[in-house]
Amino acid sequence: MIVNTATSALAMLGVSLLASSQLQPRPLTAFPSELRSLVSELSAYGFAVRIALPPVRQAYGLYQPSSRTIWVSPLSFELGIARQTLLHEAVHAVQSCPSDVLSPIGWQFPLSPVVKRQVDMILYNNYHHSSRKLEEEAFGIQGQPNATSLLIKALRQRCLKARN
Ligand SMILES: [Zn+2]
Repeated sequence: MIVNTATSALAMLGVSLLASSQLQPRPLTAFPSELRSLVSELSAYGFAVRIALPPVRQAYGLYQPSSRTIWVSPLSFELGIARQTLLHEAVHAVQSCPSDVLSPIGWQFPLSPVVKRQVDMILYNNYHHSSRKLEEEAFGIQGQPNATSLLIKALRQRCLKARN
């Protein structure tokens, strides 16, 4: 999950200035084409992706294992972080294979001090089911130019294709 922590007052202000239409669900075609192959691959493996407000307050994105659903908030499009949010939550979806209990993929990305602080904040402020390793992978992928192909490769290795 990506939540707004340090800048929550700012984000609340931002929310209040946004028209409610900007917080409405959007079609998946709102994602840039680079990400659409990832979205369709995720759905082939039984994960639903929704551009809609997540069922957790102040979250920009959420992966919910029980429903195998990734939420990307419409707000993250307004803030220009939709790509990072989708990549982050897609990492958690892949981590949930094969057992629904999140476990590390095994990636080692170099993390900048800024990213390390983001991980610290996430671990300090929330939230039950996460661990440092899981969040380091989810934040680390965001800086990788080949993030979508890394994710698709890991998805194919760890997850089972959905039956239609
Ligand atoms: Zn996370």
